[in-house]
Amino acid sequence: MASQESSLSKNFRRLRIAVLLFVLATVAVSAWQSQRKISSWKSTLYVAIYPINADGSAASQKQIEALQQSDADSIGAYFDEQGKQYGLTALYPVRVTLGPAISAVPPELPGSGSMLDAISWSLRMRYWAWRHTPKMSIRPDVRMYLLYLDPTTHDTAPDSVGLAKGHLGLAYLFAARNMQGSNMVVTTHELLHTLGATDKYDPANNMPIFPEGYADPQRTPTLPQDAAEIMAGRIPVDATHANTPVSLGNTVIGPKTATEIGWRKAGN
Ligand SMILES: [Zn+2]
Repeated sequence: MASQESSLSKNFRRLRIAVLLFVLATVAVSAWQSQRKISSWKSTLYVAIYPINADGSAASQKQIEALQQSDADSIGAYFDEQGKQYGLTALYPVRVTLGPAISAVPPELPGSGSMLDAISWSLRMRYWAWRHTPKMSIRPDVRMYLLYLDPTTHDTAPDSVGLAKGHLGLAYLFAARNMQGSNMVVTTHELLHTLGATDKYDPANNMPIFPEGYADPQRTPTLPQDAAEIMAGRIPVDATHANTPVSLGNTVIGPKTATEIGWRKAGN
């Protein structure tokens, strides 16, 4: 009897291990498949954006209610137009859908924490996203959370972030209609991070790095520039000053960023 029990529990343990391995393998395969899909650019990349009232303010609420699908479409149109410069032939490389507002607020990225803090935040963030993201008719490849703050009560916003692992991003935005254009720039910058693009500004002074952070590095004279490389985020006007672009129309995806997201091969 005793030996029968132990063989039963042994079988049960084997089954548990098999199930666990199957789950882990499924997670790994689906992560690999979505990474492959994203970097191949052979089919439309589906991005969902979810607005969040991050400070519970009336201003943020008003801005969220004013958001329309056409605002999301402006990001898709930008990828379409920029991709053409690199010979991208997909009809709609990126389709951005405005999802429903989410009432829960995600965990804030620790400002200056250790590596462990960052890992712990990334796990909490992914758990939060899994719990609170509403279902969409098409499962998005990338999820972007747009966190609105009232600019009359917030001078600064927490750091926005785009995670290439997990394909999700948080964009902290100011709730004002005249900031709508620059909000789309911030959202697109973070979206590009989720696709593997890196920053092209000097973290010491936030100035765009030459040449990869310049929209037109060949221009003479080099400064002032009249557009921003989107991953540099700002338009350099002289050696120490740079302006914030007011809309995506004042930005371009430069060759280095295009290489990082798989639009061109390095050195071409
Ligand atoms: Zn960045």
